[in-house]
Amino acid sequence: MPLFCDVALAVPLDILFTYAIPPGMEPVVGGRVLVPFRQQRLSGIVVELHDRPPQVVTSQIAASQIKIKKVIEALDLSPVLDEHLLKLGKWIAGYYLAPMGEVFRTMLPLAAEFKRSVAYRITDEGRMALHLAGMSGSPARSKRTPEQQLVEFRVLDYLAERDGVREERLCGATRVARALLAGMVRKRWIAREDVSAARDAARVVKVAVLLGAEEASPPETGQASSLGTEASSPLDGRDARPHTSKTRKLNANQRTLIETLAASGGRLPVKALRGVDVPRTTLGTLVRRGLIELVDEAQEFTASKLKPRQSPFEFEFSLAQKEALAKIGAAVASRKFGGLLLHGITGSGKTAVYLACMRQVLDAGRSSILLVPEIGLTPAVAADLHQVFGDEVAILHSGLSDAERAEQWHRIRRGEARVVAGTRSAVFAPVSDLALIIVDEEQDSSYKQEETPRYHARDVAVMRAKMAGAGAVVVLGSATPSLESYYNAKKNKYALVELPDRVEMRPLPEVEIVDMRQEFQETGQEQVISRKLGEEIRERLEKKEQVMVLLNRRGYSPVVLCRACGKTLQCKNCAVSMTHHKRERKMECHYCGHVERIPDKCVHCGSEYVYFVGTGSEKLEEMLHGMFPQARIGRLDRDTVRGREDFEHALNALNEGALDMLVGTQMIAKGHDIHGVTLVGVVGADMALGLPDFRAAERTFQLLTQVAGRAGRGQSPGKVVLQTYFQDHYAVQFAARHDFAGFYEKELQFRAWMHYPPYSAIANVLIRSERLDEALTWSGELGRWFEKTRHEGIRVLGPAAAPITRLKRDYRYHFILKSPSREKMNALLRAMLAEATARKIPRTQVIVDVDAVWMM
Ligand code: ADP
Ligand code: ZN
Ligand code: ZN
Repeated sequence: MPLFCDVALAVPLDILFTYAIPPGMEPVVGGRVLVPFRQQRLSGIVVELHDRPPQVVTSQIAASQIKIKKVIEALDLSPVLDEHLLKLGKWIAGYYLAPMGEVFRTMLPLAAEFKRSVAYRITDEGRMALHLAGMSGSPARSKRTPEQQLVEFRVLDYLAERDGVREERLCGATRVARALLAGMVRKRWIAREDVSAARDAARVVKVAVLLGAEEASPPETGQASSLGTEASSPLDGRDARPHTSKTRKLNANQRTLIETLAASGGRLPVKALRGVDVPRTTLGTLVRRGLIELVDEAQEFTASKLKPRQSPFEFEFSLAQKEALAKIGAAVASRKFGGLLLHGITGSGKTAVYLACMRQVLDAGRSSILLVPEIGLTPAVAADLHQVFGDEVAILHSGLSDAERAEQWHRIRRGEARVVAGTRSAVFAPVSDLALIIVDEEQDSSYKQEETPRYHARDVAVMRAKMAGAGAVVVLGSATPSLESYYNAKKNKYALVELPDRVEMRPLPEVEIVDMRQEFQETGQEQVISRKLGEEIRERLEKKEQVMVLLNRRGYSPVVLCRACGKTLQCKNCAVSMTHHKRERKMECHYCGHVERIPDKCVHCGSEYVYFVGTGSEKLEEMLHGMFPQARIGRLDRDTVRGREDFEHALNALNEGALDMLVGTQMIAKGHDIHGVTLVGVVGADMALGLPDFRAAERTFQLLTQVAGRAGRGQSPGKVVLQTYFQDHYAVQFAARHDFAGFYEKELQFRAWMHYPPYSAIANVLIRSERLDEALTWSGELGRWFEKTRHEGIRVLGPAAAPITRLKRDYRYHFILKSPSREKMNALLRAMLAEATARKIPRTQVIVDVDAVWMM
């Protein structure tokens, strides 16, 4: 066995840590080890095993004198990251300049298997203090209250007789507050140690099983086991039938427990029985009497219980769908890496193509992964997947607990689920023999992780397919591909596959633009709902057709303005205005979540002339209620939707005709397939055009195209009324004409002129601090460093205040780097990080965002 291992730890440091391997221990590359780090224990991934002693820091110290820490425990006998995933993680760390340990932590959802805990033991000083206290009664002169001293000595007493006690137990036994413990550690009376350890990986639950069902059931009822139904329970006290001797002696509590169990088919997790109102000892008694048995069972994954919609394969594929399927199928069969861009307009039947491809892969005994955007994975989609793939599918979404996530991970790794569907991090699913990765709505910004490691799941998917052992294929699908992906397809990096028509030749909706500046002139006031849109809505409601209205801003009013001093109510943590939420009666910051009371006076000047300005989705809903009192209106935004289920619920209501109208933010624009909607009104979707972000036009075009795509998906053709203050903007014009190619050409020119992607690699470097002077000093220092460091061909803009100058208490400055060569840009960024470290700027305050999608 080698002497040392290099370990990647999830700490914000761009280095690996070397540990000695104690004799007899056998860590593996790609497996986890538990190691001491500073005062803690951390689990990390072994990246390399070797015999090289760690590098000597100064030449005076001989290598043998360095005390190298030892691995505490090897947690895995075989790698949790196979060689391909290990390689992928290293690539991510390099490409996105992220600490490798943080990358691995993101790739492995196994946090649930590692239990953090600390223990305390008494020190010699502590024993001395206890001893002295015993002699003098109480130590002299102390800042603590007598009560606190009493607790301290209780703790010392407790620890003196024991050898290391876990925090929970100590707190429970002595009722000591954690702050007091910390004080005792500072006084060195007690020592704190990290005793975190691995937990049993296979999750089991204790299940109570009812025994002797037949025996307990009187034969004359004629039922083999009547315990399944409550009504005929043989244990019912009011029942006149004779009881067996075993059950006759049951007391009321015992009977309750047994009946509960019987009503659930004779087995229930012990946890579930805790909800029954009987003493805890009752269960034990019944176990002893042989009426109930406790067994360990592997916990089951609870699949979505929603009924699947129409089977995805009940129709005949269109010619274009068949061609797409054939092309992707051929690419997969070639067992070579390949990328395809599936550009299919809204309603062209992309989903059916995905599922058919995945079916083929599964039939060939290989694995596939389907990535969907955050909101795209509704229970209905999950139900579809279950219908097509049965138990072979594992579904990973953000609603899972750590334990559930870990469980899915193990199922996939054991090869029980060869079809994986999920959001961003599902790209790391440990499937074997990966043949196909599909990225649906590949342009969606939820694929970019906005925290370290700031990876883009689409790009990682491409890389993963490239690195897969047996040659995998990646399919990027969208109605509105990102400029980058479409450019790659045009340059033949990806094969372009198109679905140019809607299924069954349904037409795309007609789009009518309403110029809101003109509306203002003609009506003499600022309008939220134009006369045209109002008329169209009325018409649809009369015809019993359905309407969707998009306003991409939640809340009631986005701004509170003082008419006396002209100032607005700003968040105390961020340089943004607070949004008024009427129903919940609060002001909320949409960036940090800070909540305040609704002001009745201006916070700046005390004036009472405060006004709520502007309209959000909550107000829009209220206005529409006022205009159409008969209509049943639902709203879909982050205030009405807490989880996937709420989301699905609102859409189901629309689908089943329980709603006439659905109002909402961009959530309503994405991917749903509701056939009754014939009108889509766009009240506000072009606000983004005013933002200082080079992707503003692209995002607006995508949003408009997506939302327009919701209209006319059934038998009746659809219409879109698009209200805008930017009617001449090309994003609006091309979206109205459903002209992706036209938009693409125009936008590409702009990108070329401005040296933006796809013509340059970009990175956003953010310097942040809660102290303004620090943020300024650091960004100034790095600015001067960038200036004097030669970097051929790389443009460095900044330092400048970030568009949102303060966010979550941090003042923010940034640089934007643009470079025709990605390698050179990354080399410069790496050098910059080294410089920042040398200048003692904390690594966590310098954020490097490679391929940033959010420039604010
Ligand atoms: P997209 O994702 O491209 O917007 P979907 O895959 O959601 O489109 O398909 C739109 C609708 O058309 C769905 O209800 C789907 O079941 C249906 N569909 C797909 N292919 C066909 C087909 N060949 N014939 C009839 N209906 C189809
Ligand atoms: Zn004021
Ligand atoms: Zn805020």
